[in-house]
Amino acid sequence: MRHEPVFDPERDPVQLRVDALNDRYRHHGATAVLERALGDAQVGRIALVSSFGAESVVLLHMVSVMDRDTPVLFIDTQMLFEETLQYQVDVSEQLGLTNVQILRPDPLEVQRRDRFGALHLSDPDACCALRKTETLERALAPYDSWITGRKRFQGGQRTDLEFFENEGDIRIKVNPLAHWAKEDVRDYMVNNRLPRHPLVSQGYPSIGCKPCTSKVGDGEDERAGRWRGRDKDECGIHFLDGKPVRAAPDAQHEEVAETAEGDTTMSERVIVTDDGFAADDWNGALAAPEDEDATAVLLPSDADPEVLRGRLDGLSLVAVEFPSFADGRGFTIARRLRLMGYKGRLRAKGHVIADQYAMARRVGFDEVEIDADLAARQPEDQWRRRSAWQAHDYQSRLRA
Ligand code: SF4
Repeated sequence: MRHEPVFDPERDPVQLRVDALNDRYRHHGATAVLERALGDAQVGRIALVSSFGAESVVLLHMVSVMDRDTPVLFIDTQMLFEETLQYQVDVSEQLGLTNVQILRPDPLEVQRRDRFGALHLSDPDACCALRKTETLERALAPYDSWITGRKRFQGGQRTDLEFFENEGDIRIKVNPLAHWAKEDVRDYMVNNRLPRHPLVSQGYPSIGCKPCTSKVGDGEDERAGRWRGRDKDECGIHFLDGKPVRAAPDAQHEEVAETAEGDTTMSERVIVTDDGFAADDWNGALAAPEDEDATAVLLPSDADPEVLRGRLDGLSLVAVEFPSFADGRGFTIARRLRLMGYKGRLRAKGHVIADQYAMARRVGFDEVEIDADLAARQPEDQWRRRSAWQAHDYQSRLRA
């Protein structure tokens, strides 16, 4: 990787870095934002995600000029136009891009969930999740940030787009062209004599998968041909206000439950340990800390652990609440409980993110309890990469 991040994710969560970057680059132009983003340590390891669609060549060209070794991630959903596949080969070669990575959906999952390639007809959100979102999520795992070609003028969920966005408290999304007008895109392509996607001249100003892209008529919005006739205008890859834009939340939960059902009895709650995800094996209730007879208690984030002094040996499980990933009081509670001599099972419960796993383990937690929604947004492999948590531990790295 070219740009190792210098930030500590535990102390510099995504939102703080996004705010700082937007402040720093607010008055810069598109090329300056992209150039700085490729080298800014607060942005960290970065990749360009490109569909090689109607306007993709602008960012591809900029990147090829600034650093042609930049990772370029191209998702081949296996439902694309032949013209797009050929355009990807031609443009990559013409621009001299050296690190284009072609990503495809997991073949076993395609076999299981869309054997006949017809899922887009019955449930396009599920199809996009399978073929795009999950594929991209796996590919982005090593990166702190990614570059998109989204622009405000495209409307819909994009009208308030900033240069830097918080993507689900996981990573940063960089939108260098956020403030460009349609004319800026056209002028850039003309001035740099860039090759156009062959389908543009055939009436496709926005190009996605073949079954979900139709021609656009005079006077129509340029994205009108995407998922025409459906209540859908995003593929599910993008997030809004730091939260994923998705289909009905219930459907998402059902999908997670269904996925888990085959291998575990994972419920709405997921327990994360050094071994990965598991169903919660604790079936008892969690009592209030004042309950003297309880063997398992739930400590609120503002609790004083002294309330448990004198009866720690009788407790099998202590769970500490995390109402928000930005609320670090639970880490202090855990550290104090261990210093007080608590030897039982200690659980962080609530909004703890994968980047905080090393910190949770270091202060004495044995496990983290998250809900299925967060587990879907931060899949097991993101946590597993922290399972050798001492290697991700900031203090340990300093001591090494
Ligand atoms: S755009 Fe259509 S075919 Fe492509 S992944 Fe989404 S629903 Fe499936």
